[in-house]
Amino acid sequence: QASRQWHPEDTIIKTAHTRLGGNQFTLIAGPDSIESVDHIFAMADAVKHTGATILRGGSFKPRTNPYSFQGYGEAGLKAHRAAADAFELDMMTEIMDTRDFALIDGYTDIFQVGARNMQNFSLLKQLGAQQKPVGLKRGMSATIDDLLNAAEYILAAGNPNVFLIERGIRTFDHQYTRNTLDIAAVPVLQKLTHLPVLIDPSHAAGAHDLVAPLALASAAIGAQGLMIEIHDHPKEALVDGAQAITPAELEKIMQQTQAIRLSL
Ligand code: PEP
Repeated sequence: QASRQWHPEDTIIKTAHTRLGGNQFTLIAGPDSIESVDHIFAMADAVKHTGATILRGGSFKPRTNPYSFQGYGEAGLKAHRAAADAFELDMMTEIMDTRDFALIDGYTDIFQVGARNMQNFSLLKQLGAQQKPVGLKRGMSATIDDLLNAAEYILAAGNPNVFLIERGIRTFDHQYTRNTLDIAAVPVLQKLTHLPVLIDPSHAAGAHDLVAPLALASAAIGAQGLMIEIHDHPKEALVDGAQAITPAELEKIMQQTQAIRLSL
């Protein structure tokens, strides 16, 4: 069902505050993690000003080290929901475990499946059995076909509202970039599937100064949106501060991506 052969027209996903897919360029922005009520409200205010329509932020964090900050759980979801409502944004947050479904479903508008859970098949089936949109991130070692098959699990279970997010894959050089952004994945996926294809330059880069060039390249190659991490004080971020850009930097990126898109 993910194939363009089966469904030639682009899928358009409609949410309360935005649309994803087709000619739409959708910006998802926010902090890596929900840190406090005041912080997510400040970030939501900044996100709204940039023209973003979806407020991201993790309350259940997939950390490599079990002793690292794991997210604030339900308290984070509550703060995230309140901030999204206050600024008329859609809420998007990560789900890692089927056991958290009812809790997260009670708050979020859009589910995020992270790179590490791209092939968590029971989670994909569960998200397929409901209709809220699912942003499916490419696993760090996943091929294009692996990603499409993962999307197929959600579609086959009955949910057509799936969008794909390229967020960099593992290659052999981790000295200068955290992952390697597979920019060619955008036209390749757009040829193979009708599902919206977005790029997350933050997790691809792992470094704040690379976010802008990768975002601009994403717009130039025809990505249907971006997911970008912001923080007002990146050095104090609880998670992944090295890749966070400031709201002012995001605003500049959005102006530049708009100019690139108009010139296409
Ligand atoms: C995230 O977006 O918060 C995240 C953990 O990303 P990824 O799954 O791509 O590593």
